[in-house]
Formats: sequence, C-alpha cells, structure tokens
Amino acid sequence: MNKKIWISSPHMGGAEMKYIQDAFDENWIAPLGPNVNGLEQDLEQFLNEEVYVAVLSSGTAAIHLALIMLGVQPGDYVICQSLTFSASANPIIYTGGIPIFVDSEPDTWNLCPNAVEDAIKYSISKGKKPKAIVAVSLYGMPYQPDKIKALSEQYDIPVIEDSAEAVGSSYKGQKCGTFGDIGVFSFNGNKIITTSGGGALILKDPEFKKKAVFLSTQAKDDAPHYEHTTIGYNYRMSNICAGIGRGQMEVLQDRIEKRRENHLFYKELLKGSALHVHSEPNDDYFSNHWLSTITVDEKSRWTKEEIRKRFLKNNIETRPLWKPMHLQPVFKDALYFGSHLASSLFDKGLCLPSGSNLTTDDFFRIEEALHEIIISE
Ligand SMILES: *Cc1c(COP(=O)(O)O)cnc(C)c1O
Repeated sequence: MNKKIWISSPHMGGAEMKYIQDAFDENWIAPLGPNVNGLEQDLEQFLNEEVYVAVLSSGTAAIHLALIMLGVQPGDYVICQSLTFSASANPIIYTGGIPIFVDSEPDTWNLCPNAVEDAIKYSISKGKKPKAIVAVSLYGMPYQPDKIKALSEQYDIPVIEDSAEAVGSSYKGQKCGTFGDIGVFSFNGNKIITTSGGGALILKDPEFKKKAVFLSTQAKDDAPHYEHTTIGYNYRMSNICAGIGRGQMEVLQDRIEKRRENHLFYKELLKGSALHVHSEPNDDYFSNHWLSTITVDEKSRWTKEEIRKRFLKNNIETRPLWKPMHLQPVFKDALYFGSHLASSLFDKGLCLPSGSNLTTDDFFRIEEALHEIIISE
C-alpha cells in the first residue's frame, strides 16, 4: 500500500531539538523560562507592529482568555463566524456567553459585514449589545478587516481576531493577528507551524499582556503565600513546547512559501475545470494558504463526497470544509444571521493535501487522482 498522504502534518525544521536541549541543560522544565520569553520576542518581531505576545497552552485557551479580558459575562451575546472550527465558538460557552452565529461573504469566506450588522441590531433591540465579535481568517485567508473594523468602531464592540489558521497571512502588508483588539494564534500539530500544542494572544497594551500572563498562571497575587482575588487558569505554554516553537519560527517563511506553492499547483492543475480553487480576491490579500481548498461546481459529474472517496481509495486524505456552527447539533438552538453561503460552501467544498512537507512523489499521486476526475468531467 502507498503511504498515506495527509492534509497537513507537522514539519520540523531541525533547530527545535537545540532549544529543547537548552531547556533540559538548564532545567527549565516548566511553563516559564527562556524559550517562553524567546518565542514571544520572535513573534513580536515577526508581527512587526507595536504588539505584546503572550504564549499559551492552546489557541482555544487564548480565545477563552480574550473573552474574559473583554469582560464577557454569563448571558452576554458574542458574535461569531459560523463557518469555522468549533474552537472559535466553544470558549463563548465556557464564559456563559451566548453565541450569535453569522454567515460568510463569498470573497474570503469570512464574516459577512451585513450579517454582522443585522446581528448587532438584533442584540441592541433586545437591550443587550454584543460584548465581542470573533472574526476568523479561515484557511489562512484574511477576513475583511476594514469593514469589520468600521462596524466595531461604529457600535463600539471589540474584535477578537481568530488568526489560528493565518500565521503569516497579511492584508495590505499588515500581518494577520494585529487587526483585532486582541489577536489569537494556534500552534496545534496541524497548523502551519506547531509547538505540538500551543497558542498565543496578541495584545496592543503591555498592561493587557501582564494581565494575560497573570490569568494564565493561576492568578497569584503579590504575596509570600498564595493569595487570590481572581479566578485563575493554568493556560501558560510549557518551556519545552516553546522550544519547538523557537525552532519553527526559524523556518516559518519557508513554510509560508511552500504552502503558497501548493495552492499555485492546484490552481494551475484545475484551471478551466469544474473544481474551483479558493484564492485571494485581489492583491490586498495575502494568504498563507494553510489549506488549499476547492469548491465543486454544479457542472461537475462528481460530488465533493465522490471526490473525497476517490482520493481515499488512493490513500490520500481530503476533508469537507468546516461544517458551520449553526448546523452543529451542539449549537442547534443558537441564533443565526445571514443566508446560505456557509452551508453551501460546506455542501460543495473540500480541503486538499496542503502540507509543507509533501514530496514530488506525493504530488505525482495527487495529480494522478485529480486527472481521473477532471478528464471524466
Ligand atoms: C485550530 C483552531 C483553533 C484552536 O486552536 P488550538 O490550538 O487547537 O486550541 C481556533 N480557531 C480556529 C479557526 C482553528 O483552526
């Protein structure tokens, strides 16, 4: 049997072990130490804006803390993109908040500004303005920051930028993660770079960073004994994981280039076919193309499910796009604003193998499988 080709698997650069060895040599086997501080500095430098980074145990933890820092309380509304991974929305429930899901717009597949405004107006009519907007840059494609920011300012509602999938993406030259009032990265094993599991908060104010570190390390007050005036969390990143992250930062640029090449490969191969590769709407947008995705035209003789099974027969993993949150059994009673774009994308969309470690042989097999499908159209 051919070896399995995965959608996105970890891709080590080589320097990771050096940073881990340093941690062992100096006995920094804890959720603090030189790698934690070093990774935060690496990220701040990479983002190239006046931001303060706090690295955490996961992207999910980062979204949870972002909601807490914005004061989300039980019963508060939080607007969230429906077409996303559940981790964008679950932390709203952790805080006792009420998610209001909204549809996507066709250019970026992210928050539809009109639907966001409808959701805001509805909430205000209920006497409860939303406490935050969770904006996602799905598959690495930046959302429309100008339009979402305009709404955020008009109604005075902060934006949590879920950039878990968009490390290294940018809009008009500014890096994703720096657009929201608070930004979020994930370094889970399947993301463009990984710490095995991890995440980061990107903050605009050094006091906010202090607060994030305080909350993520059990909220210990300044006293010789353990004194607590706030509920704390054990969300800080381990110095070992941060060592992996420091090694990964050395190769991030290469990983972005490789994933963008994958996207071009699919775009060339599928040109003129009934399989459409999702690409930047114009030159303002620069996606890291974490995952290359397609939508299957009605003209295609193959459905997305048939294509997925054909790939699977060749031991190649593909996956439907995220199933929208408003269609998930766990959120069946949640409010939803917008139309049917998110659900139609789920019906006809597929993620293709997108790792930065795919080999020439892997691409040969992918190309063969796709040719069978295109030729028989
Ligand atoms: C991966 C991901 C997260 C969660 O990050 P973890 O590090 O896995 O907790 C949140 N939002 C989106 C859109 C993601 O893809």
